[in-house]
Amino acid sequence: MSHQTDGAPLLDQTLNALRGGVGPVHVLTDADLRATYETDWTRRFHGEAAAVVRPSTVDEVAAVLRACGEVGAAVVPQGGNTGLVGGGVPRAAAPRDERGSSRSQVILSTLRLRDLEAVDEVAGEVTVGAGVTLAALQEHVRRAGWDVGVDMGSRDSATVGGMVATNAGGVNVLRYGVMRQQVVGIEAVLADGSIIRRLPGLVKDNTGYALPSLLAGSEGTLAVITRVRLRLVPQLSRRTVALLAVDDAAQAAAFAAQLRRSLATLTAAELFDDDGMRLVLRHTGGEPPFREAHPRYLLVECGAASDPTDELVNAIAELPSRDAVAASDEGARHRLWKLREGHTEAVNAAGVPHKLDVAVPIGRIGEFDVIVREAIRRADPGARVFVYGHVGDGNLHVNVLGPDPEDEAVDDAVLELTIQMGGAVSAEHGIGVAKVRWLIADRGEPDVAAMRGIKRALDPAGGLNPGVLFPEES
Ligand SMILES: Cc1cc2nc3c(=O)[nH]c(=O)nc-3n(C[C@H](O)[C@H](O)[C@H](O)COP(=O)(O)OP(=O)(O)OC[C@H]3O[C@@H](n4cnc5c(N)ncnc54)[C@H](O)[C@@H]3O)c2cc1C
Repeated sequence: MSHQTDGAPLLDQTLNALRGGVGPVHVLTDADLRATYETDWTRRFHGEAAAVVRPSTVDEVAAVLRACGEVGAAVVPQGGNTGLVGGGVPRAAAPRDERGSSRSQVILSTLRLRDLEAVDEVAGEVTVGAGVTLAALQEHVRRAGWDVGVDMGSRDSATVGGMVATNAGGVNVLRYGVMRQQVVGIEAVLADGSIIRRLPGLVKDNTGYALPSLLAGSEGTLAVITRVRLRLVPQLSRRTVALLAVDDAAQAAAFAAQLRRSLATLTAAELFDDDGMRLVLRHTGGEPPFREAHPRYLLVECGAASDPTDELVNAIAELPSRDAVAASDEGARHRLWKLREGHTEAVNAAGVPHKLDVAVPIGRIGEFDVIVREAIRRADPGARVFVYGHVGDGNLHVNVLGPDPEDEAVDDAVLELTIQMGGAVSAEHGIGVAKVRWLIADRGEPDVAAMRGIKRALDPAGGLNPGVLFPEES
């Protein structure tokens, strides 16, 4: 007997090995039970899995990888399934093995890897399971007076393992850097089931290749991350947020640069447009922050041990903004943040979006914001465009509603322009399956050949997340 889905059947022998490895109740084969794991957050990416397995220890993860490796099944690692480029759900068309036969796909969910070790107070570090959500991690370390350097709107579901695998960015990158910069140790399982582990949390460690850095941003193609040691940052107990109405994105970038220079306490500088803000307000039912509409908005936050309100208010008084409002109590700060963080959900609720998460040189943000809208209009005159993002680090999210999910004309227009302007086709979400066609155009043949060499060395049979990051080799 076999369990047939799209792709090769998963033989009972393999299912039994998986059940023996993780326990029968943690091998889900019923379509109803698999469904939420098989479609991504945007509803744009979907594929059928032969099974969803839910290991709870590193040894169980190793058993899953060995069992799948023996029959050439593809393993799709999945954390919180908040990724936006289709890398954490099965491929729509079954991937092929090296002989050209179709592979069955197994989703390896990390959600049961949720150990939270005690905070190392002296080192300012913590070791946690890959399936711990960002919100659970924040709650854990804040109880000890620390905080996590990366924060983002998907915090309630995104997992630490997924954040490392995508090298997540978020709203505090200008202060603390991206996820790769928080990782000081890692435990992971390679495709053959062997376990690599380096968790002492040495800030300085130059003994050979930095495997934690290599796995950061590897999108489940090199190993399954099972445990992570993170450096922590001080908890900033006093925060003030300001929202500035500005003429355009160029002015927002210039103001952000000035504030970065003058305010050591600056933690975030975020951009959004008026169409995006109205969409968020319709979705959440909130009130507009200003009486009049303005072309663009810049949201900035300062955090410190003592109240940063005066220094922030004095600094923004120097800027010729159209209007400005500041808030330091929690409710008002949250309302201002919601205007920015509510974008992803509001756009998703309005349709199936094309989401382009690009990086452009910070000095060209203003130019990009104008030209990208023209390029999209040429590709699809009826498209609705929302541009928002992390103006302090050059990362803009271009979201487009209207074009059919399968029609990639607007995606191509945005990504081509990004490369022409010296940017990167992914700033924080990764390549996934959504941008595979663009990897070589962005990175060039020699870089991609080197990446493929690393992939072949760690996963010679290509069973880890095939079709993600690289196009499948024919
Ligand atoms: C509302 C919203 C806001 C967001 N804001 C931001 C933001 O500000 N910044 C940002 O960077 N992203 C953002 N994202 C995207 C997303 O939350 C991040 O990419 C996040 O890091 C994904 O984590 P996850 O656990 O959900 O991973 P998943 O979606 O489950 O997986 C993502 C990728 O990582 C791989 N993977 C997952 N876990 C592991 C593991 N343990 N080992 C190996 N590979 C693994 C998967 O195979 C897949 O390729 C947002 C998403 C939403 C829905």
